[in-house]
Amino acid sequence: MSSLLTSSVAVYTGTFDPIHRGHLDIIERGSRIFDHLVIGVGINPDKSPFFEMEERVELIRQVITPFANVRVEGFTGLAVAFVRRIGARVMLRGLRSASDLESEFTMSLMNLNLDPEIETVFLMAKEPYSHLSSTLLRQIARFGGSLERFLPPLIAEALERRVRERGLLHGT
Ligand code: ADP
Repeated sequence: MSSLLTSSVAVYTGTFDPIHRGHLDIIERGSRIFDHLVIGVGINPDKSPFFEMEERVELIRQVITPFANVRVEGFTGLAVAFVRRIGARVMLRGLRSASDLESEFTMSLMNLNLDPEIETVFLMAKEPYSHLSSTLLRQIARFGGSLERFLPPLIAEALERRVRERGLLHGT
């Protein structure tokens, strides 16, 4: 295996609350482009997540086993600081739509300001996943909708369980 210093390393950052098939598609494609891909699970101080950071990391760990060059870690600070700590210079992000483009464009410029040596690289969402978001899937779960098409089975089970535990299930 090539050393981390001479090989290409990218960090795919996000909240992943929870990880879904759209994220997994970006992970699979990213794992073919880069020698090593680290999934960085961050916190959004403005939102209270369905799953704590440690839970999101553990769920991701269980669904990335097919990818030998992918690993997952949580972080609490700035994404660019995490990327630097990992020893990478590339942040990977996925783009779904024009609205993603606007927010991701602003975010990538801010990150360039924060650390000019770290570049953001985007992969376009594949058509079957371009409508998928964790927010929508959490809503579907609260209305008792079927999640299997959008989430790996163990993630769907975890989401359904969390909705029940919190008493968030609305009439079906
Ligand atoms: P955020 O980091 O904005 O909280 P997420 O954790 O949902 O959002 O997503 C992490 C990254 O994955 C972002 O770059 C986001 O645009 C991308 N992404 C989210 N959903 C999809 C999808 N269905 N297909 C491809 N990329 C996606």
